Amino acid sequence: MGRKYVLGIESTAHTFATAIVDDELNILSDVRDVVKPGETLGIDPKLTAEHHANVAPQVLKKALDDAGMDIIDIDAVAYSMGPGLGPALRIGATVARAIAYKFKKPLYPVHHGIGHIELTSSLLGFKDPLVVIVSGGHTSILSFSLGRWRTYGETLDITLGNLMDMFARKIGIPFPGGPKIEEIARKGRKYIEMPYGIKGNNMVYSGLLTYATQLIGKEPVENIAYSLQETAFTVLVEATERALTQVSKKEIGLTGGVASNDRLYNMMCDMASEHGVKVGRLEKKYNSDNGVQIAVVGILYMKSGYAPVPVEEAVIKQRIRVEEVEVPWR
Ligand code: ATP
Repeated sequence: MGRKYVLGIESTAHTFATAIVDDELNILSDVRDVVKPGETLGIDPKLTAEHHANVAPQVLKKALDDAGMDIIDIDAVAYSMGPGLGPALRIGATVARAIAYKFKKPLYPVHHGIGHIELTSSLLGFKDPLVVIVSGGHTSILSFSLGRWRTYGETLDITLGNLMDMFARKIGIPFPGGPKIEEIARKGRKYIEMPYGIKGNNMVYSGLLTYATQLIGKEPVENIAYSLQETAFTVLVEATERALTQVSKKEIGLTGGVASNDRLYNMMCDMASEHGVKVGRLEKKYNSDNGVQIAVVGILYMKSGYAPVPVEEAVIKQRIRVEEVEVPWR
């Protein structure tokens, strides 16, 4: 039996990406094109979809060229079905359906969050981790149980990525603001007490955003950014610690764009080491949205013998929760 290959297509938000991964999880290609939002626009769903539709042909062609393959050499197609922006998701799903229909390839819709989880677990070699996804679309603490990923804590309002990006925009930094806020926060010297939102294992961040925004012009921005980060991350780390005591895992996989933040990673490591738990994260490029994470889940579906979805049933689900998805490979 020869090697099998899956094409992964990602289009939930700002990134249109394609990647080809084989059944040993070797990454043959990984091509991305990220929309550059206007300074005040944030992410506009219609403009994002337009961007994705424009770049899709060349992103797909480059993924095939980089892998030295033709579309007919692909064994299956996997695409992000959600959660995400409807118009953007529709572009990825349409490209995937067209390829599956024309070339008679099996088709696997993939939950985007499960893409983050499985890529992180497989590259880190974590078998049964507690997963913390921190991005623009998610702030969730997840653990696998009874055939599905289950939420053990999540934001009750805005995500950690949104908090960073929205505060950044208030001080004139365009999307994505997180990396720049991290840089500014490093220069902060004074901690200003801010609203600390935790309810059980859940996070609440909008009060913190309002408070930090009201301080602009009254306190040095470095101190505001520093205090915002310290407060938001402490809330997340405390919620993670609470979840950890409930599920008693030995590994924490930190993933999503905000996982690239060194301060957050170090705080999570400090907490985990007190419990004898290991924390892992991937190199930066795999924390952000990419096609590899979708292709990896496609491979897992294929290897587990899970039935692919007929083209006419391959839909998008803008608000799908992780619990709604059966995970046959674990
Ligand atoms: P999802 O993956 O859930 O669909 P998304 O598309 O917004 O959400 P990602 O690309 O995973 O996700 O993450 C982007 C987010 O990560 C942005 O909010 C960005 O500001 C944030 N981010 C990236 N790097 C850093 C950093 N170093 N510190 C803080 N935040 C960061």
